Amino acid sequence: MDSANHPPRYVFEDLLTVRDTKRYFLLPFDVPPGASWLRIDFYYEPERVPHPKEVANLVCLSLFDPQGFRGARHSFGTHKVVEIGPSAVTPGFLPGPLPAGRWALEVDTFMVLPGTPVSYRAEVRFGSDPEPTGAGPVPSTVWRAQPPLRREPGWYRGDLHTHTIHSDGDETVAGLLDLARQRGLHFVALTDHNTTSQLFDPAVDGNRDLLIIPGMELTTHYGHAVSLGTTSWIDWRTGHERRTISQAIGEIHAAGGLCILAHLAALGDPVCTGCAWLFTDQMPGEIDAMEVCNGPWFQVGSNNPVSLHIWKEWLQAGHRLPALAGTDFHAARDYREGAPTSVVYARELSAAAILEGVARGHVMVSTGPELYLEATLADGRLALMGDRVDPASVRSVGVRWMGAPAGARVLWLVDGEVCAVWEGERGEAAPALPSGARWALAEMWGPDGALLALTNPLYLRA
Ligand SMILES: [Zn+2]
Ligand SMILES: [Zn+2]
Repeated sequence: MDSANHPPRYVFEDLLTVRDTKRYFLLPFDVPPGASWLRIDFYYEPERVPHPKEVANLVCLSLFDPQGFRGARHSFGTHKVVEIGPSAVTPGFLPGPLPAGRWALEVDTFMVLPGTPVSYRAEVRFGSDPEPTGAGPVPSTVWRAQPPLRREPGWYRGDLHTHTIHSDGDETVAGLLDLARQRGLHFVALTDHNTTSQLFDPAVDGNRDLLIIPGMELTTHYGHAVSLGTTSWIDWRTGHERRTISQAIGEIHAAGGLCILAHLAALGDPVCTGCAWLFTDQMPGEIDAMEVCNGPWFQVGSNNPVSLHIWKEWLQAGHRLPALAGTDFHAARDYREGAPTSVVYARELSAAAILEGVARGHVMVSTGPELYLEATLADGRLALMGDRVDPASVRSVGVRWMGAPAGARVLWLVDGEVCAVWEGERGEAAPALPSGARWALAEMWGPDGALLALTNPLYLRA
């Protein structure tokens, strides 16, 4: 018998208006001992309002069992189904037994547009018969870190921001990993919206050749941040019980992760609800690094130019914040020509070493061409992009590039000013450092004005 044919044990219905936008509504229900399956059907309407038709209501779900977070469904779609059973679980949710006691379905109202109210209905069903969601082994929810895939230091290329069917992506985890292999990536971070179930997907266990960086995207009502290196759920719900973004960032750090500011200057409400970063106390505050490139440079609605500009303003203001790329992968098209990667210098190919490289700013943003920056110090040591060096100790600076397309230009920027321009498919330069300079970096631009590669800065301080 199909679980949907059981009568619902609980039904919740209500109307939401524009005043309910950006809130969290808890719908509690009690699960008895012995329950073996749970099914929730959540319906809302309307999806869209007539004008403007580009914008939509967005109502998402989080689920909590008596012990804590149990999963989330962060996606469009006005009928959301959640099934947790002995042999299968809906992507976005954590498998395992159903503890008896007080559960809560949380209605997360990302956008309720003015005009027609949104009506919703939630039906909760559960039972103890051996049910119903298909066969297959239940994955573990204990994260097993991969051993290093390579032991030698080097520049490793990967994607630090992706989504799968565990939130609003089109691809399975297996599909994403296959596409990453086709791109020749060494590592992929799995960062679905507001959940961690992607980390326990069977494809993660089956994977041997790609390094998986665990994480999730904290998809708040006022901006998005990628937690990298964490395997537990980070409570993203700012404003819920007076929670602040600073507390959430503190939890990422306590769990050994990095907090990456995502697509800072994305279009915000109502087109992309909550996508623009509005936490004025975290600009950059306790943020560890930020995305300056988030998909092909010129894609529609691109936040890239503004994010890069703001990053440089922060450098000018004295902040030392690594710049990264993440594709924000949602579908195969996001890996088309021009998609950026983060190329990280790491002591080995392991998650810990990649995160260490990211934190130190040993990162080149690249859409394909390579661009390196280093300084040779008086004692013979080498400083990499992202490092802080005493200018008096610098013997020489080296910029190297290769793979530049015809018409590309490499710029040498000191404190935000262009101090040299080079051309050629490949080349090397040893630019001077003006006295008093505070930061210097190299950029490669295509003839069409798109950023092709970017180094992190050398920071110059006595
Ligand atoms: Zn986002
Ligand atoms: Zn994202």
